[in-house]
Amino acid sequence: MMIPHNRPLITAEDRAAVDEVLASGWIAQGEAVAALEGEFVRMNGGGYACAVSSGTAALYMALNALGADRRTVVAVPTYACSALLNAVNLCGGIPRPVDVLPDSFCLDPEALESNAPGSRFAIAVNAFGAQAEIASIKATGRSVIDDCCQSLGTRPRENGRATGSALSVYSFYATKIITGGQGGLIWSRDPDCARACIDYRQFDCRENYVPRFNFQMTDIQAAMIGSQMKRLDAIRERRQKIAAAYLEAMPNGLMVQSGLMDGGRMVYRFIVVAPNRPIRDRLRQHLELREIASIVPVERYELLHRYLGLEAADFPVAERLVDTTLSLPIYPGLSETEIEQVVQALKDFRI
Ligand SMILES: *Cc1c(COP(=O)(O)O)cnc(C)c1O
Repeated sequence: MMIPHNRPLITAEDRAAVDEVLASGWIAQGEAVAALEGEFVRMNGGGYACAVSSGTAALYMALNALGADRRTVVAVPTYACSALLNAVNLCGGIPRPVDVLPDSFCLDPEALESNAPGSRFAIAVNAFGAQAEIASIKATGRSVIDDCCQSLGTRPRENGRATGSALSVYSFYATKIITGGQGGLIWSRDPDCARACIDYRQFDCRENYVPRFNFQMTDIQAAMIGSQMKRLDAIRERRQKIAAAYLEAMPNGLMVQSGLMDGGRMVYRFIVVAPNRPIRDRLRQHLELREIASIVPVERYELLHRYLGLEAADFPVAERLVDTTLSLPIYPGLSETEIEQVVQALKDFRI
């Protein structure tokens, strides 16, 4: 039996929380959504939260609330998923991909001027649980959306606050750290921004008409997500423990994403960095023969500058990362036997 690259862990408590909502007679957005929003306000030390239907919807609504329109140029890391392009395009804005840092895979603040001149906004993705250089990006005068879709539960370095950010988005898609099948959330320190998001997510029975949409989360999803949120610390510890075991088994010559074992890190993905593509591909085959699924986290064709037909030479770091990176299975649902299987496979790999 192949060890899958990802597998959600839904416990008896999570099921019971969902059952309670199903039995209550209220399954649309209601008390469970409000409770989940309260949980995020607590976690981030204040501010306001707005639960929505997906991470992509959260990105779009955050841009919308900031006032992004047809003239707005938005810097996005090129080494990221196309959700970013879709959110910017839905606002009518102009996405400008930016190269990333070779060690953390997050947006390179020093590439902002050359790759994204004229951008007022930036979406900073905390890649695979790392922390993006939010403060440096802010220092360039840009408004930053802190994309925490892959870093829920990463404890910030700065001030004990959520990466020192003012506006964050989260995703609860099936493969994320915590899941409701689908789901998203916007957290903001600014009441006006939060109010704009809350106003936009629901259109029914409103006194005035302005364009709005249905971007709501159901109480069924919120109950499932809220139940997992109670385990966030345990999830972080478990993922770190598995990462430590993999790290110890890593053969010389293979590297990992920087900051992987930082104390507060949520290890969303365990990313191996090989010296070159042939070795990366050979590692992938070796794992497959040992019945271990792995993925190339971002393929070359998925790089956002490629989708937009931009010059590859302007994004040298991202162009290299797609050849050298491989993501191994790491999630709390892995059994001890499965972890040992991965550890043994790593130990047996010869570069
Ligand atoms: C998953 C993800 C999204 C999109 O979230 P969905 O809930 O799938 O719409 C956006 N940004 C990043 C970094 C993600 O990992």
